[in-house]
Amino acid sequence: MTPVISFRGISKEFAGNGRNTVVKAVDSVDLDVEQGTIMGIIGYSGAGKSTLVRLVNGLEAPTGGSVVVNGKDLSGLREKDLRVLRADVGMIFQQFNLFNSRTAAGNVAYPLKLAGWPAQRRRARVAELLDFVGIAEKARQYPSQLSGGQKQRVGIARALATSPTILLADEATSALDPETTRDVLALLKKINRELGTTIVVITHEMEVVSSLCDRVAVMEDGRVIEHGPIYDVFANPQQPATRRLVHSALHDRPTEETLRRLRRQFTGRIVAVAIRDGGATLAALAAKLDQHQVRATIIYGGIGELADKPFGSITYELAGDDTSVDAVIAELAEVATVEELNPGAGSEVLAQGAGGVR
Ligand code: ADP
Repeated sequence: MTPVISFRGISKEFAGNGRNTVVKAVDSVDLDVEQGTIMGIIGYSGAGKSTLVRLVNGLEAPTGGSVVVNGKDLSGLREKDLRVLRADVGMIFQQFNLFNSRTAAGNVAYPLKLAGWPAQRRRARVAELLDFVGIAEKARQYPSQLSGGQKQRVGIARALATSPTILLADEATSALDPETTRDVLALLKKINRELGTTIVVITHEMEVVSSLCDRVAVMEDGRVIEHGPIYDVFANPQQPATRRLVHSALHDRPTEETLRRLRRQFTGRIVAVAIRDGGATLAALAAKLDQHQVRATIIYGGIGELADKPFGSITYELAGDDTSVDAVIAELAEVATVEELNPGAGSEVLAQGAGGVR
């Protein structure tokens, strides 16, 4: 597969607040985005996600390294070439960034005007785009007359006007309610599937990543600290920041506060078992738990799906004498990743069994 976007040693520094201080918003990032994928960029606020993505369409210029988009190195491109590039890289935003003085159709027509399309072709294209995003009947409405979801659909139609091969989405669903978010995510999937558009999504909403993206890159302090297929990264996060993001989003493990409550309520040892291959692991767990003088009670957790595969974590209280509990944990660890949980102590990975993915 050919990457449509290649970051090589890319850095972006801004002048900081203090004298002679600099902020390294993006710090030596190497990353490829393959054609036709939906790539999620996640990380806490200030990690550098927006800056990285804005380097792709020349909204920011790097202070080091290179960005290659569709085989073209962006460094040294002149304004005229950047305009050509931008026709090939659409972008949508959290606050939609529509012109309030133009109708939905007027907003969508705008990039076509810039690209010099004659009025008649423009009208046909605008109608086709509004139909594609599902708001044909809103063509003559102004943004103030539209709901958030409709505004984002206008934003998407505008971004697609010049048939870009890449669509950048910067927190595109963060201002929308959950139901509208799902509709917009479905539309992004349709764009990827039907038009073959490569999509890069910045989001702090892990649900967006888990339901939309094929691959994910995790940023912290300007660096990409981890990246790969979404299932691999979520199932087996390598970096502490990634683990925090994954668990906080999936709610599959008790938070510190919940753990303290569970600790007060359950006196046995508490272990979390990662479920990565669903039925097989669960059956093996049940068999193991059956053999011992240990009472296992499920006290937290759930199993859902990620990338169409079972995914989750179950937290058990294991009540019994320490030797028996140790024996159970050792056996569980043969089939799954098991962590003993203690409030305040962080967690300890006891063993990584066959349930691990990588
Ligand atoms: P994220 O999208 O992950 O929240 P950003 O890319 O917006 O992160 O910001 C990364 C860092 O760069 C932050 O510390 C931010 O304050 C800083 N930054 C971003 N844009 C500018 C700018 N135009 N001028 C100065 N600092 C900036």
